[in-house]
Amino acid sequence: MRSITKLDLQYAHRFYGFRGEAQYLHGHTGVLTIEVEDTINPGVNMAFPCNEIQKTAWNVLKNFDHALILREDDPLLPAVLAVYEKQGIKDGDPNNIMKGPAFHTDLATAYPDCRLVVTKETLTVEGMIKIVYDLLKDQLNIVKLTFTSGVNAASQEYESRLHLDRCPLCGIALDENGVCPKCG
Ligand SMILES: [Zn+2]
Ligand SMILES: [Zn+2]
Repeated sequence: MRSITKLDLQYAHRFYGFRGEAQYLHGHTGVLTIEVEDTINPGVNMAFPCNEIQKTAWNVLKNFDHALILREDDPLLPAVLAVYEKQGIKDGDPNNIMKGPAFHTDLATAYPDCRLVVTKETLTVEGMIKIVYDLLKDQLNIVKLTFTSGVNAASQEYESRLHLDRCPLCGIALDENGVCPKCG
């Protein structure tokens, strides 16, 4: 069975080099739907707790929320950084606290201190799905991702590939020592 959860990401981006309105900087509320598959955990009676999917995903994905997402070759990138630098917010601000751990993959690099994500490819809804799967595939047994942003939507299904030992009391994944982080 599948446990399914949604989360919102508010971000700004543009399609550098495209024709039309999308070449201008603009913003979206994107909605990501994560579907995790597993057997039903007896007693707990869930495939995986949805609040735990949210927590695991948000820990990384909050770097995309209230963030600017630009392709690595976009000339806006040095321009924006120069302004942030001049303003003294490039390396952080006391009120910029919704930061996940900085990450670097082949597809994207997060700079949480200045709420910036730099991508290799144009950040379409398809591009977002590729990045998200790459970031979460070793923590959650994701079998489908759907991302919608304005009138755009994309989804991708994946093979079930991750076997997680789950706590018989609460259903979350046990740590590497076979201990539940919640129940002990
Ligand atoms: Zn857009
Ligand atoms: Zn537990």
